[in-house]
Amino acid sequence: MKEIYQKTVAKPIIFVGKGLHSGKISKITILPGEEDQGVIFKRVDLKDNNLIKANYKNVSSAVLCTTLENKHGVKVSTVEHLLAAFYISGIDNALVEINSQEIPIMDGSSKEFLKVINKTKIKKQNSKRKYLRILKKIKLIDGEREISLEPNKTSLEVDFQLDYNNKIIGNQRNIINFQTDNLDEIIEARTFCLFEDIEKIKKNGLAKGGSLDNAVVVAKDKILNVNGLRNNKEFVNHKILDLAGDFFLSGFRVEGSVKCYQGGHKLTNMFLRKLLSSNFIKLYSKNNEDAISKKNLSNYTKLAVNA
Ligand SMILES: [Zn+2]
Repeated sequence: MKEIYQKTVAKPIIFVGKGLHSGKISKITILPGEEDQGVIFKRVDLKDNNLIKANYKNVSSAVLCTTLENKHGVKVSTVEHLLAAFYISGIDNALVEINSQEIPIMDGSSKEFLKVINKTKIKKQNSKRKYLRILKKIKLIDGEREISLEPNKTSLEVDFQLDYNNKIIGNQRNIINFQTDNLDEIIEARTFCLFEDIEKIKKNGLAKGGSLDNAVVVAKDKILNVNGLRNNKEFVNHKILDLAGDFFLSGFRVEGSVKCYQGGHKLTNMFLRKLLSSNFIKLYSKNNEDAISKKNLSNYTKLAVNA
């Protein structure tokens, strides 16, 4: 059943944990959000200009994680697994206070976020949720990477394929319908990296908080985590989770069939920019199909950038 109305958390939810890239402990408090507000991050460690809207236009870096930045240069990073948890639990609006720059990585997936969010009361709001429907296929190719979205009137379906030059990861493909499929194996899928890349990533000042507790590490022919994988397609499943989190940044619930080959945060962001500027999209709310005009769309995105 598709939701007609927007939702938010009924009471505050707190998470504390290490940032994957910064290695710093941070605390986030998820507070109820206003209707039509979407998700806004508030850097409580800063006094001024500390609001950052979760919107694709505010993505300033998409290397290894999604980083959002407001016009004053204030950032929040590794937002994708929390946003995926909001997407999956049906939360539209929230104010997320954070006392540092990076969202805790928890166990590298959305499992711990959802375990708590799903136990918390979710509040239905009065405004209608806004859906984005695509009228004609849109495709983006970036080198060997490809992503496309085709009309599908009922739900978001993701067909993802990755192809790694590594014996363990290899070629994995999965097709998930976010409306009708059981999402447990998507929710629990952890972020991953190749052992041989760790040194390079750390040299770039990233993954300082990375460990076998929050990532799957793959050597040439084995997985270094003692308990191995959580499910057979954990690698591609994590990519699907990332995509759901990054799609949340569109500001709408996207209805359509996504096909993605070798994608990642950067490709998804490039695609959202193309999608939201396309003439082949229709925004509407359920029940009366009252389409939101293009003018309103530009108002929404303007709000987003100014937040
Ligand atoms: Zn991820």
